[in-house]
Amino acid sequence: MRIGHGYDAHRLEQGRPCILCGVEVPSDRGPMGHSDADAPLHALMDAMLGALALGDIGKMFPDTDDRWQGADSTLLLRAVYERVYEHGYALGNADITIILQSPRLSPYIGQMRGRVAEVLGVDIGAISVKATTEERMGFTGDGTGIAASAVVLLVADS
Ligand code: MG
Repeated sequence: MRIGHGYDAHRLEQGRPCILCGVEVPSDRGPMGHSDADAPLHALMDAMLGALALGDIGKMFPDTDDRWQGADSTLLLRAVYERVYEHGYALGNADITIILQSPRLSPYIGQMRGRVAEVLGVDIGAISVKATTEERMGFTGDGTGIAASAVVLLVADS
């Protein structure tokens, strides 16, 4: 078994779509970035790459490369998971935490878990998505940004 941790943060900007775990959440602002800036999926990908000591998504999908401009992060996630597979591992489970002041994400959590499970081709029971605020403290609290972290367990696919 291999364990990995990932963390990501993005600035929020007015008028940007708010796509989290591949699900568009109604919001007047969304994460700004080179790709679709889906912070929880970026944290999840970094956790997978970290578990196998394969670097990070910045190395795999450089933001200097126009191919990843506005990229759908679910496609990047699929590519990362293919690499995991090539290394002889499969996902045991993943636990993702999204840190955002608003909007409230609880109505979308089920959809997010389903979307991630679908992208990876795993049981929904293997995917946990949680959301929290930082009680109006710091850059997530004042609405400047979003943060996300993820922990994964990969199991040898023997
Ligand atoms: Mg990112």
